[in-house]
Amino acid sequence: MAIVPKHTAAALNIFTTMSSLARKENAYNLSQGLPDFPVFPALSDLLKEATTAGFNQYAPMPGLPELRENIATVFNNKYRTNFCTPDTVTVTPGATYGIFTALATVLNKGDEVIYLEPAFDCYVPAIEINGGIPVCIRLDEQKNFEIDWQRIRDAITERTSAIIINTPHNPTGRVWTTGDWEQLASVIGNRNIYVISDEVYDTIVYDGQQHRPGFLQKGLEGKVLSVYSFGKMYHITGWKVGFLIAAPALTEAFRSIHQYLSFSVNTPAQYALAKYLLLPGQEPASVMLQAKRDLLINRMQPSKFRLNAVSKGTYFQLFDYSALSDMEDVAFARWLATEHKVATIPLSAFYRKSPGIKQVRLSFAKNDDILQAAAAILCCL
Ligand code: PMP
Repeated sequence: MAIVPKHTAAALNIFTTMSSLARKENAYNLSQGLPDFPVFPALSDLLKEATTAGFNQYAPMPGLPELRENIATVFNNKYRTNFCTPDTVTVTPGATYGIFTALATVLNKGDEVIYLEPAFDCYVPAIEINGGIPVCIRLDEQKNFEIDWQRIRDAITERTSAIIINTPHNPTGRVWTTGDWEQLASVIGNRNIYVISDEVYDTIVYDGQQHRPGFLQKGLEGKVLSVYSFGKMYHITGWKVGFLIAAPALTEAFRSIHQYLSFSVNTPAQYALAKYLLLPGQEPASVMLQAKRDLLINRMQPSKFRLNAVSKGTYFQLFDYSALSDMEDVAFARWLATEHKVATIPLSAFYRKSPGIKQVRLSFAKNDDILQAAAAILCCL
């Protein structure tokens, strides 16, 4: 008996392929976004404390109360609001799950969901598995991936029930401005369209920019499900803990699905994160990562790789290799990893159909010596 595929995405994605190629080739791995620096010692001490203090059984379904309260406090202080309460915060097993469950919350079979390409690879399968129809708007690389709002207006139909957005944006490093948010609110207007707002890199913005959370956007009240990830915030991607912030009615609907999908989330990790969130004296991740971005860009300057736009957020930087090779990007990335021992991600990984753009994404969430060694190789090409 054959199983009908539930989505149209690749069985094995290019992130997994490039990471295993990097391991096989013993290459400098600037491909997948996993940072290679250690966990903060205080955070790992708290994780140990949690297990010895007996936090080893199921946490409450919405998350440990202390963690939800502390997340609410951090967000309210940061954005000078009182929107966040434990009733608007739900702890999730990572952001991928948060996005999937947010879609499961708002979609009915046959609903259309608009998303913008290049897009993180879990969006399309998550839409399809939940019975939705992905509607792609391709951003123009010639215009630095700025959003063409008219194209979004034109794509909206009676059946549009959601739009997925991502800021700061993986892989372009673009950060939404207040203008972008106002445009989105105006495009949606009074329509019943929900916004799944992927904000996993909310704490990683550079050059004095400010992230703006979707759930606070005027004109979109009660329509935004903002998704976050502690994996990005504290470079602990393997912990797979994140959270969702949304208005109480949306939160309740989200929890009614979450209750029967994972029910609850790793208790010791929640205990540790609750305490760690309010520890004083933490340096924002963006300070260290901005220095790494600058180091990589600096070291790449003598190379034939071209920089079209400096990353303003996330820990990724796109480079254009068209002055170096005519190869299409997957072949180029494979060649770089096997012949020159530097693993990258081809930009087409973020498209359903290869767009034919000659760019690769480099992660700079790596130790400085790795960045320097990889850049030295790339400068010799
Ligand atoms: N959204 C984006 C844009 C991401 O880059 C990632 C991780 N690479 C995720 C979501 C998933 O986050 P998590 O690991 O918490 O599931």
